[in-house]
Amino acid sequence: MAAPVTSRSVRLAPASAGPSTAVLVELAGPGSARTSLGSAEEALRDARLTEPERAAIRALVRAVALLRARAGLAGIDDAGTAVHLVLRDHDADTRGPWASAGRISVGAKNALASRAPGRSRADVLLTVDTALHELTHVVQFARMGDGAHPVGAILEGIADSVAILADGDDTLGEGYYRVDAQGRPMGAVREVGDHSRVSGPTLGNVLHRYADAIAPHAEEHAAGGVVSSTMVAIRARLGRDRAEALLWAVIRDAAAWRDGGSWRELARALQRAAGTDAVTQAAVGAALAQTGLDAALR
Ligand SMILES: [Zn+2]
Repeated sequence: MAAPVTSRSVRLAPASAGPSTAVLVELAGPGSARTSLGSAEEALRDARLTEPERAAIRALVRAVALLRARAGLAGIDDAGTAVHLVLRDHDADTRGPWASAGRISVGAKNALASRAPGRSRADVLLTVDTALHELTHVVQFARMGDGAHPVGAILEGIADSVAILADGDDTLGEGYYRVDAQGRPMGAVREVGDHSRVSGPTLGNVLHRYADAIAPHAEEHAAGGVVSSTMVAIRARLGRDRAEALLWAVIRDAAAWRDGGSWRELARALQRAAGTDAVTQAAVGAALAQTGLDAALR
């Protein structure tokens, strides 16, 4: 989930800092007040925190380390800016983890618990794949101007694509659910890949065709499925590492996001990322045709 860009982020950690100092933890207080708990390492030693809160910190530290290792991401802006993790955010209790400029907020309970009673786990506040998804929103916000008007579906699709390519698993948010007797998750937030991996329903569906994604009232997380489906189609042709490198070239392509991005700019950025290599160009072209996203270029 994402919120509009509200403010500029503040540079707080040097680019050389490790993942645990690249995450700064805060406790939400009354109103908009927040208490700093310091770096992730310091916060993990704080006796005020619960074990689920410590697990949430570790999930975000893991997500930061994954993107550092796999995409060379240094801070949320490639210039060393730390991401803030806000714990005990009241809005997140009902809407789930969400991102704003420079911040990821999580609640004191699993927001899915009331929606999927009996199937969800009460003690999971943030999973690694959700942390990757929300961290990507923070990265995207850091690259947009204050007046940008981002297309929600594109942001959601890019965030899902980052998560599935970085953790090598096309199921999102299954860690919020209990497992059945066969060890299969009893649900997931979204399933970009094989639905047989989970034994229960997913929270949201995924649209695979551009024409469906731009239809009026298409839900933005579902519509983002066009982006992740395009990246999955590229992965099928070029492999995970190459697909991930293309995705990050698009995320880092300033021209694609200057005004918040558009479907046309996204497709063009993918073509630019393909460069002059004929095999890569063909794979991107075939993937854009597969999801119908090539129509945005016309
Ligand atoms: Zn999101």
